[in-house]
Amino acid sequence: MQRQGILARYGPYFDLPAHTRPVTLLEGGTPLIPLPRLARTLGAGCQLYVKYEGLNPTGSFKDRGMTAAVSEALGRGAQTVICASTGNTAASAAAYAARAGLRAVVLIPQGKVAAGKLAGALAYGAQVIQIEGSFDDALQLVVEITRTTPLALVNSINPYRLEGQKSAAFEICDELGSAPDWLCLPVGNAGNITAYWMGFRQYAQGLPRLLGAQAAGAAPLVHGHPVAQPETVATAIRIGRPARGEQALQAAQESQGRIVAVSDEAILQAQRLLAGEGLWVEPASAAGLAGLLAEIEAGRLDPRDKRIVVVCTGHGLKDPDIITRGGFAPRGIPAELDALRQLLGE
Ligand SMILES: *Cc1c(COP(=O)(O)O)cnc(C)c1O
Repeated sequence: MQRQGILARYGPYFDLPAHTRPVTLLEGGTPLIPLPRLARTLGAGCQLYVKYEGLNPTGSFKDRGMTAAVSEALGRGAQTVICASTGNTAASAAAYAARAGLRAVVLIPQGKVAAGKLAGALAYGAQVIQIEGSFDDALQLVVEITRTTPLALVNSINPYRLEGQKSAAFEICDELGSAPDWLCLPVGNAGNITAYWMGFRQYAQGLPRLLGAQAAGAAPLVHGHPVAQPETVATAIRIGRPARGEQALQAAQESQGRIVAVSDEAILQAQRLLAGEGLWVEPASAAGLAGLLAEIEAGRLDPRDKRIVVVCTGHGLKDPDIITRGGFAPRGIPAELDALRQLLGE
C-alpha cells in the first residue's frame, strides 16, 4: 500500500478550514510494537504495546499536528510560522515550513533544548532564537507577537495542531480493532493528551482510561498550581504552565484516569527498560511507562487481562547527551587481539 500522510488518510475526521493546502512529509502510520516480555512481568493476561512516535519524519509526534497547522497557515496565505518550543515543536515546525516554502521562527529556552532537536531546527533552516527564560516565557512572547503581526502561531494553542494529533488515536483503534483499556503518555503543555481524548471520542471505537505522567519537578497538573521554575531531565515536558492544562485534567477525569508525577530517576529507569527491549526513546517519552509502573507498584492500577498502550513520543537520538553523560563512556584498549580477549573474558 502506498504510504499516506495523516491528512490524506483520515481527512474527513479533521475539522480544518476549506482553504487548507496540504503540506506533508508522510507523517503518522507509526508502529504499535508489542512488548510481550515486559507485559508478562506486569501481570497475567496483560498486553502491552508501545506506540512509537519517534518514527515520525522529524522524530516526534509533533509532526501529526504540524502537518495540519502548517497546511492551514499556508492556505491562509501566511508567510512565516512561529512557535515556542522545548525542541521537538521547533524541529517539526522548521521541517514543515521548509516543505511549504515558508519561513520559520522558533523561540527556545536557553540551554534547555536537547542537542538533536536544536540541530534539527537549524538544519531545516529555521531562525532559532534563544530566550533567557523558560519555555513558558517563550510561549508568552509568541502569543503576544502573533496578536499584532501576521505571523502564524503553530504551538498547540493552535486548534489545528490538536486536529492532526487526534490521528494517533485513530491509528491505535484501527490497529487493535478498538481502543485499549489504558493509554499512558507524558504530559507537558498537555496538547497531546487532549488530542488523544478528542480522537478516541470522535472515532467511537471505545474509550481508554488515560494515565498522564508529568515529571515531578514540572507537575503543575498534579499539584494544582503553576510551577515557576520547572526542572527535569525530560526537557520535552519541562513546562510549568501548560496551555491545555484544564482540558487535560478534564480528559483524564472523564476517562476515569488521572495525571500523576514521576521522578527523574523513574523516567530514566523506564528509558533503560525500553532500550532493553530495543526501543531507544528520549527521556520525556519514557514518562508514560514510568507512570504505569509506579501505579501498578502502588496497587492503583491492575494490569491483569488489560490492553495497555504506552505512547513513546520522541526518538532517543534527539537527546544523545543524556546517555553519554550518564557514565556510559566506552572502554579503550590497544588494537590487539589479546587485549580484546582479556576485556571480553573469552
Ligand atoms: C511535546 C512533547 C511532549 C509533551 O506533549 P504535550 O502535548 O506538550 O503534553 C512529550 N514528549 C515529547 C517527546 C514531546 O516532544
